[in-house]
Amino acid sequence: KRFMPKKTIAHLAEQQLDQPLHPTQQQAVQTTDGPLLILAGAGSGKTRVMTARTAHLIKDLGVEPKRIMVVTFTTKAAEEIRQRIARQLPSGQARELIAGTFHSIFYRMLLHHHPNDWDQQRLLKKDWQKWRLLRETGALLGHDELMALKEADITEALSIVSRWKNEYILPQEAAFREVATDAEKRAAQLYPLYEAAKKKHQWFDFDDMLLGCYELLRDNPDLLKRYQERITHVMIDEFQDINRIQYETVKLLAAPQNNLCVIGDDDQSIYGFRGSDPKYILGFTKDFPQASTITLEVNYRSRSAIVSLGYSLIGHNRSRWEKVCRSFHHEEGDTFLFEPDDEEEQASRIVDEIVHRREQGTALGECAVLFRTNESARPILERLSEAGIPFHYTQEEESFYQRQTVRWTLHYLRLALNPDDTDALKEILPTLYISGDAWNAVRSQAILEDKPILHILPHLPQLKPYQRKHMQAINDILAACKDCPPAQALELIYEDGKLREYVKKRVRDREDGRERWSDELQQILSAAKRHATIRDFLAYIEQMSRQEKEWRTMRPLPDEAVHVLSIHRAKGLEYDHVFLPDLVEGALPHEYTLDELRKGKTTALEEERRLLYVAITRARRSLCIGIPRERFGRKTRPSRFISEMGR
Ligand code: ATP
Ligand code: MG
Repeated sequence: KRFMPKKTIAHLAEQQLDQPLHPTQQQAVQTTDGPLLILAGAGSGKTRVMTARTAHLIKDLGVEPKRIMVVTFTTKAAEEIRQRIARQLPSGQARELIAGTFHSIFYRMLLHHHPNDWDQQRLLKKDWQKWRLLRETGALLGHDELMALKEADITEALSIVSRWKNEYILPQEAAFREVATDAEKRAAQLYPLYEAAKKKHQWFDFDDMLLGCYELLRDNPDLLKRYQERITHVMIDEFQDINRIQYETVKLLAAPQNNLCVIGDDDQSIYGFRGSDPKYILGFTKDFPQASTITLEVNYRSRSAIVSLGYSLIGHNRSRWEKVCRSFHHEEGDTFLFEPDDEEEQASRIVDEIVHRREQGTALGECAVLFRTNESARPILERLSEAGIPFHYTQEEESFYQRQTVRWTLHYLRLALNPDDTDALKEILPTLYISGDAWNAVRSQAILEDKPILHILPHLPQLKPYQRKHMQAINDILAACKDCPPAQALELIYEDGKLREYVKKRVRDREDGRERWSDELQQILSAAKRHATIRDFLAYIEQMSRQEKEWRTMRPLPDEAVHVLSIHRAKGLEYDHVFLPDLVEGALPHEYTLDELRKGKTTALEEERRLLYVAITRARRSLCIGIPRERFGRKTRPSRFISEMGR
């Protein structure tokens, strides 16, 4: 296996660095005094202008690199920008730049000035860490109502708290806010408790880095002045994704010269759930009336058909700034839609297409599969591994095969094959409503009678009549399943065995309100359909979960592996060939958005449209869109965005 050196993770085109800049791009590079807004569509060379501008400041104007602050939003993009700048400078100079994501730059400042406060603290990253902390604090303080909250409710409340913090709404303010929903009410109650709990146990979260830095600068005029004198130029890429707290901090740092260059595309604002708001980029010239505005009108990245597809889609958004954008390239490029029967066929066809491209000489690293949610990625990853094609995949969530619903299902199947599988039986005890005591009693009896525990369970004296009946039914069902094809066995277990009912009652739903469990059962069922026997199916799952572990640690060379990543992570990047699976209602636009729409809120739909726009505009030469007729066993409808694109 080949491992790739860390430095080359980022992926952006560099081959065109020798191409001359467009006169307007050149103008943007040379406008270095005062505030500057560069507002332009995808692929118009904004990021290239930013790096060229940095190099120009250093090489031609003699600005010391340590006086320039260059900010972007993802670590991948930050790494990329640093590299692009480094290539244009004598060696070593780029290292002195203040370059990175907001979080990395601000955290470094905090550590530098308050090492004792920040060094000792631990970073709260995961949702479950947060709610565990809250649970513990709630128990300590005797907050019964908090203890009664579902994990999902807490997570939802905490995400609202996070958004508030990013909008600089403090706990006391939140308490007096007019709150609209129950979730917001809970958030307002939890907020002070969460802050106190963190402080007490020396934790901090990502939002605290931003808030902490803002307050540090605001409350220490001398320190602020030192920074203002040191930093003479500030540049921010992807400015459409800035939120209030970041913007306020930047304004402090850039004053009083305000050599502040902000770069972005309002059509690509996709982090609304973190408090990002395109109103900051659109309102920039109101905040800085002396600002120059430059717009770039040539898309250098995508072939013309891709550019028009993107614009016909995004034109349906109402709150946006209308742009002119034409493709630099004369070729049309390919925009290709296909309608497979289901997600499995979709995956096979995408992988076939990638294989075909490779045979024609395309580097695998020039192919990317972009997805809205992890569910869309899984069938494709499975096909890629079966075909032996290397890929990069960054997992966003817990492994599919480790999820509780999936594990229960598999244990039922194991038990159907082998009633003696005590480990499997033990795992599904909760779903059978059997207590630990009953289990202990039955275990010794099983040894004495030399029978599978499963067969003894229905006769256990402790059981209530309905339990006994259910246990008997389970025995019959599992016996009947033994020689069934796996999909049929699962139907029996889910319906007659009442596993679906149990799961529905017990499993907590996702913070975004989606019934994830039901998707999971459908997904496993649709995978089962491809196998003739339970044994084959279980062996397949075994292999896949082993693979999945490997996928996460795999580091093939970037050029020799397909990129499989979420649209959110793909922002700012580009690939020759882009594949977009699952352009169906409920996937993109996401089910959550459709719910919002039913409640009469349209802003979420506009953000989904921007998300698709970002996805489309990652492609240089070809774009391939899958519209499966069925997904995880359910009929689908093509995404409304397809007809909006005029296809
Ligand atoms: P996004 O909005 O997606 O972030 P962007 O506006 O930042 O896009 P870049 O990534 O800077 O666009 O540029 C897109 C592509 O166009 C890159 O491959 C870049 O090298 C190329 N490019 C930019 N300007 C020129 C030019 N003047 N001549 C040729 N190619 C160019
Ligand atoms: Mg860019």
